[in-house]
Amino acid sequence: MNGHILEDLPIAVDRFLQKDLHWVKLHFLTHMHTDHTCGLSSSWKRPIYCTHITSKLLKHKFNISPTFIKALEENETHFIENGHFSVTVSVIPANHCMGSCMFLFQTDNKQILYTGDFRFDEELPQSLEIFLKGPPIDTLYLDNTYCEPVCSHPSREEAIEMMANICKEHSESRIMIGVSWVGHEEMLIKLSEKLNDFISVDESVIKRLEIMEITDHFQSNISARLNALPNHLLTCEYVKAWNKDLYAIPTIGIKPTAMYGSEMRIAHNSNGSLYMVPYSNHCNYQEICDFVKLVCPVNIRPIVSGRHGRAGMESFFRADMRQFSRYLNRDSSVLSKPKTPADAAPVFEVDNICSADISDDDYYLNNDKRSKMAQNRRKQLKRINRNKMNLKRGVVFHESPEDGGLLKNQKNFNDNIGKVTVCRDKTSDNCELRFISTERQREVENEILHNIDKLF
Ligand SMILES: [Zn+2]
Repeated sequence: MNGHILEDLPIAVDRFLQKDLHWVKLHFLTHMHTDHTCGLSSSWKRPIYCTHITSKLLKHKFNISPTFIKALEENETHFIENGHFSVTVSVIPANHCMGSCMFLFQTDNKQILYTGDFRFDEELPQSLEIFLKGPPIDTLYLDNTYCEPVCSHPSREEAIEMMANICKEHSESRIMIGVSWVGHEEMLIKLSEKLNDFISVDESVIKRLEIMEITDHFQSNISARLNALPNHLLTCEYVKAWNKDLYAIPTIGIKPTAMYGSEMRIAHNSNGSLYMVPYSNHCNYQEICDFVKLVCPVNIRPIVSGRHGRAGMESFFRADMRQFSRYLNRDSSVLSKPKTPADAAPVFEVDNICSADISDDDYYLNNDKRSKMAQNRRKQLKRINRNKMNLKRGVVFHESPEDGGLLKNQKNFNDNIGKVTVCRDKTSDNCELRFISTERQREVENEILHNIDKLF
């Protein structure tokens, strides 16, 4: 889980835990990857602020009531009020996956930039710099996924070219490409254009593509040379099985991930049937350094912990932000000044405190420092308890008078969404995806790792 409660503020980003409900007033979601939506389910009953595309995907995936999903325009600044607490928030495209964004929070005395997952390449600086012209950033919450000098994966364009070349070298083979739930769409579209062929996807994927309005290069229920399938289904074992039949069409797999080949190289298993191409929607190390230099914050907090680094290895270095000391803003006079847009209108007001019990789930989800063994024990217990008691996944809101009040309030304020437009151009969203570090996915990746004979 990569979410946080911002220091000293009742604001949660990418974090939806029951134990936080008594304290957190506002919930924000940067994008739809699984490690950023932990705790969400159809039972969620609090407003979530996100971009328009994320709002649609959120409804589609979790079936959360539209009453609680608040879409904010990208490249604009909004003023949100909740009782005695208010915050100004700018929504900045993160160049990570469709709908992904950064949030720049501005209170009376603080400027906080929360990057979520992002890639700082040629697409991002222009839209970002406009928002950095204000007071200095006090705290930067940084996507440090590949925050190690060894992480030198290429640009996405270069990685797509690598994939295209593999496909051309296997012109008689069926190609299976592992993708995540959302995030690899642009990669697939560009690959489709380079190879002048469409991508076959499962029928269930078409609905998501329709939501994102990018169906042109995709088809379903049809035999094709280029196929996209969920990343966790693309393993050495599966590729072996697909090629087992003497009369089967030769099949190779391509996994877009920078977790193994962090350099400009491609890794593959011994018989050349499964390739790892260093495609990533996260910054490489140099891009992270360039980004921190540009933002020049007073403090940095890593979003990702040092555990579970690349290819299942621990990486405490990536969470050690002292490496950026030389880029920090050390001028004591730069402490933030109040900034409240004069013409800002409240988005809406919520006055809800839901009764909630702290569950074992929360304890497990929120405890980064526990050993993996203890985590597994809790997970087992959680699974047993859930089966036994038929509990719902995610945060459960108990019916209470406060809930009724919340629903009523939101109905009243639902049409009252206001925004402060800050002149800037729209930028296009780029698709990308990130490795989802669920336990199952880690297992799959480890399994593949063990089957690779060579890592370059
Ligand atoms: Zn992500």
